[in-house]
Amino acid sequence: MSTDGYYGRFGGAFIPEILVATLSQLKKEFYAAKNNPEFWQEYVSLMSSYSCRPTPLTFAENLTRDLGGAKIYIKREDLNHTGAHKANNVMGQGLLVKKMGKSRVIAETGAGQHGVATATMAAKFGFDCTIYMGEVDVERQRPNVFWMEQLGATVVPVRDGTRILKDAINEALRDWSKNMDTTHYVLGTACGPHPFPEMVAYFQSIIGQELKQQMLAQEGRLPDQIYACVGGGSNALGIFTEFLKDKQVELHGVEAGGEGLNTGRHASRLSSKDGRVGVAQGYKTFFLEDEEGQMKETHSVAAGLDYVGVSPILAHLKETGRILFHAATDSEVIEAMRIAMKKEGLIPALESAHAFAYALQQAPKLSKDTIMVINQSGRGDKDIFTIADALGDDQWKEFIKQKAKSYESY
Ligand SMILES: *Cc1c(COP(=O)(O)O)cnc(C)c1O
Repeated sequence: MSTDGYYGRFGGAFIPEILVATLSQLKKEFYAAKNNPEFWQEYVSLMSSYSCRPTPLTFAENLTRDLGGAKIYIKREDLNHTGAHKANNVMGQGLLVKKMGKSRVIAETGAGQHGVATATMAAKFGFDCTIYMGEVDVERQRPNVFWMEQLGATVVPVRDGTRILKDAINEALRDWSKNMDTTHYVLGTACGPHPFPEMVAYFQSIIGQELKQQMLAQEGRLPDQIYACVGGGSNALGIFTEFLKDKQVELHGVEAGGEGLNTGRHASRLSSKDGRVGVAQGYKTFFLEDEEGQMKETHSVAAGLDYVGVSPILAHLKETGRILFHAATDSEVIEAMRIAMKKEGLIPALESAHAFAYALQQAPKLSKDTIMVINQSGRGDKDIFTIADALGDDQWKEFIKQKAKSYESY
């Protein structure tokens, strides 16, 4: 990875003058940690005592038998504390915050998952914590707001703009530039200005490092293919990075195809024709924007994939051809969820189910000696309302509608 924060023509740090000093401090601390083998040990030991690492590698015996093709393994990031790979990133950044001697963390959140993970980390490390969340999202995600507050965080509803994730990011940046001396901004994915993409990918790379060891122990060789869903790109980079140099391992990223790539209602920046190279939120990458550079509305059944930008590292690895990108539509994702639940007793998050959807379509076409791994980035409990609605079971629909109402009222 480059040290100036460019990956081919992507990345960089397009930031206001006032943030230069604090990003320099972060860079210094991050590279000092990265070059110190003891830091990685400290991180691994924290994750194994607090977040179920190493997460298991599960052989999907029933799916493998019934689909009749590739041998399918699942990497179980859903078993992390707070239910997703996001724990890897926030706990790693927490260790750095301690080293920088700061006492407060802030974060943006859309669906609330990154907010809950950050609030958890802040409680564990004893930091003050403020979470910025678009007002629309605060309304949509009451349970996550409840948990963030119980964990001790202050949740600030953002009333600017369209009152969603991108407005929350702007507000968090504003806070950061006012409070840099005490405050660290815990960015939630492998996006944003340098060194965030590299730093987040570094902490998440624990996924692929474990996978390589587990696969060598269980199969005596590397997998042939790895599949991961792509929102900002952190779980994908997490599982891919260790294998980038192993050219025989195919790497597949699956974006949100929403209602279909031809409908304009999707969040596919790399696998559709709608992504355009631009600069926003501090970095250069493919964004879903129109000719005037106005951000487009995105759509996905999975809130965690519903984002206009994508990691500059992934944008570069798309251009070099090292990673292949695809999309799965909302309805394909719901079907994949159903299959994962019925056949394997797994409840993947809707985000993760994008990787399942595409991989399970490929499996029957592959030979029995092909080994594929799907990254189950998170667990699907949080998606109960969406899934019950999509599966169209009337009895549960009614029950869940009532529950959703009671959520709205607390
Ligand atoms: C947030 C989230 C994602 C999307 O983020 P990436 O940075 O692309 O990994 C994917 N899966 C789950 C379960 C998430 O919570």
